[in-house]
This record gives sequence, C-alpha cells and structure tokens, in this order.
Amino acid sequence: MDCLFCKIVAGDIPANKIYEDELAVAFMDINPQAPFHALIIPRQHLATLNDISVEDREVVGHLHWVAAKLAADHGFADDGYRTVFNCNRHGGQTVYHIHLHLLGGKPLGWPPY
Ligand code: IMP
Repeated sequence: MDCLFCKIVAGDIPANKIYEDELAVAFMDINPQAPFHALIIPRQHLATLNDISVEDREVVGHLHWVAAKLAADHGFADDGYRTVFNCNRHGGQTVYHIHLHLLGGKPLGWPPY
C-alpha cells in the first residue's frame, strides 16, 4: 500500500519514533506547530476517521491513552496540551492514515481559524 505512515510503521521511511506498542506508533512531526508536536498512529491502516468501524474503537481510544502517557512522560501533562484528529479536506487532513496530533509545551491558541 502506498501510504507514508504505513511505511513509517514498517521502518521503510525514517522517523523520530518516541513510542511503540502492539497497537500504535508515535513519532515527532516533521513540521512542528508547537514546542512538542508528535503524531500517534495505529499500526493498522485506517484512512480517515470516517473509516473507523465498531471494531476499531479500542485502537482509536488507545491512541488517546498514548497521548496522555506521552504528555506525562515529557512533563507537560499538568500544564496541558491539545489532541487533534483532522478529517478530510475541511479538517485539513493531508496524510490519509489517521493520526492523533499531540501538541504541547506552550499556551495554544483557540479557535483554529
Ligand atoms: P494532517 O494535516 O492532519 O494530515 O497532518 C499531517 C502531519 O504529518 C503534518 O503535521 C505533517 O507535518 C506531518 N508529516 C508529514 N510527513 C511526515 C513525515 O515524514 N514525518 C513526520 N511527520 C510528517
């Protein structure tokens, strides 16, 4: 499958990986939008949030557990952070393998206009 993030999972394309387990892989975003900006992705290919089935609930929930763990491990859980899934064109999705953005390390602006 011609998917950038599947290739990162497989190790065929280098990435600054910071966490791996049986369900998920996390790596630093190549174009960070905050002092800490990681992407947490499922090992399995799911193109968009619209493609999640009832069987995928566990893995999608797990991505959020990884986000909270990384925030704690990197020392910004108490200050706070943001998690984001972008979906399709209006959501600003550019890579079609779902990924949970984890942004932290500074006060983040809102709303995202
Ligand atoms: P999206 O706009 O929500 O789809 O986010 C895609 C993200 O992937 C962007 O923040 C990009 O900077 C990031 N990205 C694209 N290619 C790579 C890569 O090879 N390594 C790490 N991050 C990447």
